[in-house]
Amino acid sequence: MVIDSLGRRFQNLRVSLTAACNYACTYCVPDGKKLQAQSEELDGGQMAYAVQLLADAAGITRLRVTGGEPLISRKFDEFLRSVSKLGLEDIAVTTNGQFLAAKLPVMKETGLKRINVSLDTLDASKFRSIARSGDLETVLDGIEQACEMGLRVKINMVPMRSANIDQILPMLAFCLERGIELRFIELMNMGHLKHNQMYEQEFVGMKSLLELIGQDYDVKQIEAPHDSTSLRFEIPQRGRFGIIANESEPFCRTCTRLRLSSNGCLYGCLSSSRNHSIRHLLDRPYHLAINDLQDILRNAMASKQRLAFTGETTVMKFIGG
Ligand code: SAM
Repeated sequence: MVIDSLGRRFQNLRVSLTAACNYACTYCVPDGKKLQAQSEELDGGQMAYAVQLLADAAGITRLRVTGGEPLISRKFDEFLRSVSKLGLEDIAVTTNGQFLAAKLPVMKETGLKRINVSLDTLDASKFRSIARSGDLETVLDGIEQACEMGLRVKINMVPMRSANIDQILPMLAFCLERGIELRFIELMNMGHLKHNQMYEQEFVGMKSLLELIGQDYDVKQIEAPHDSTSLRFEIPQRGRFGIIANESEPFCRTCTRLRLSSNGCLYGCLSSSRNHSIRHLLDRPYHLAINDLQDILRNAMASKQRLAFTGETTVMKFIGG
């Protein structure tokens, strides 16, 4: 097992099942960019084998299935069925929710317990201008059905100064009423934002968020697990919310995440474009593949930032947000 000088080891694996997405969110992809799968994406069987190898070689215990949009991938059902047999402690899915209702049966069949739905607004017209596709009512219906089925649902929202800052309080009220944990993700300086004024203009930091929420609610910070990316807050008698404060309070020092892209490359860090292909290992028998994986994992660990997220031109949907 690879452990670095800060005591970090890989425990959480994020798999980008496909880079294709049915949305074109303004902060994720530039204007007019068509959303396509990467060339030579792994098939479902190869992806599941990669997860098995990484679980055994790196000590991965938690898996998040993401993308791109995982629910539009034809691999989704087969992949979920395979990885649910690996004995991992936790499997979760991150989705934009557009096809959530259709995928609830396979989620139930495989015993999935929790999902994160990305939703930046409750206003239909703002929804269209941020996601540049999709339908808000369909997402809300999917969320309702998932809650009724007993899935633990979290909602991820990226607050932005001009696009949806007025949605912070309505989104929080919506989630508190339904017992859903809302997590605000500070805008990350990634992909096309890295060379674009949009990042500076739209960024809303934790301090501003807490001031805004503090106008309507009493808020106190509570303990979060050691390697959690999210700072957690409680509104007494109402519920909880989280802030992923990658800029305001970077969590690099305790980061246990490893990412597998849809074309079979490992990324040790969200703010490093260094990647390490494991594709060639996926045709090899287990005992040979597992042996060769150790050096690759050491290299992936070496690309982790020590202190703070510095941003990168890599697009989130390629490496699994
Ligand atoms: N399609 C799925 C979804 O929408 O949840 C999974 C992939 S999406 C890339 C995963 C998450 O990354 C979403 O919650 C999205 O809001 C977030 N994301 C993408 N680009 C981001 C950026 N520059 N800053 C912050 N969050 C970002």
